[in-house]
Amino acid sequence: MKLTISKRLGLVLHAASSGDGKRFAGLFWKTWLRFPTEVREKLVDDWGAWPPTIHLADDWEGRRKWMVGQCAFDTRDIWYFAPAVAALSLPAVQALIAHELVHSFRGPLEAAGFSFRRAQEEELQTHRLVSEYGFEHGQLEREVCDLMDIGWRLGRLPDRVLWALASVLKVGAG
Ligand SMILES: [Zn+2]
Repeated sequence: MKLTISKRLGLVLHAASSGDGKRFAGLFWKTWLRFPTEVREKLVDDWGAWPPTIHLADDWEGRRKWMVGQCAFDTRDIWYFAPAVAALSLPAVQALIAHELVHSFRGPLEAAGFSFRRAQEEELQTHRLVSEYGFEHGQLEREVCDLMDIGWRLGRLPDRVLWALASVLKVGAG
């Protein structure tokens, strides 16, 4: 399913049939509007005529277990894991959306040569900026870690199944 997030910015969402694309498109736009104006202006500038494609997906190439989002190295595609988006609280989903947008803002990691040290540093800087922009990154991490704990105790269940379980058991959040 293809949905327009913003016609003006040319932002399009590709949503898996299982994901709630309409809800996510709305949340994405809400998150975008919470970014500082100068950050938004820089991003729109960087994107030019080629804004990234946003994906709400059940899987993607290179997704590892527990990965809830990913900004492709070339920043042309930004991925969000639909089962996690369905289960996370609103503040956590917005922090997740912001996290991948900040990666996109900071540009391709490959440019200066990939290393794990650099990847780790990139995560720290991204975390810092997401919090600085007013999003609850800590909440996102807590919710993901809580589920990882449960996953650890339950054994080898796919994270997709665990998120689906969390989504059903959750009361009043989201
Ligand atoms: Zn990251």
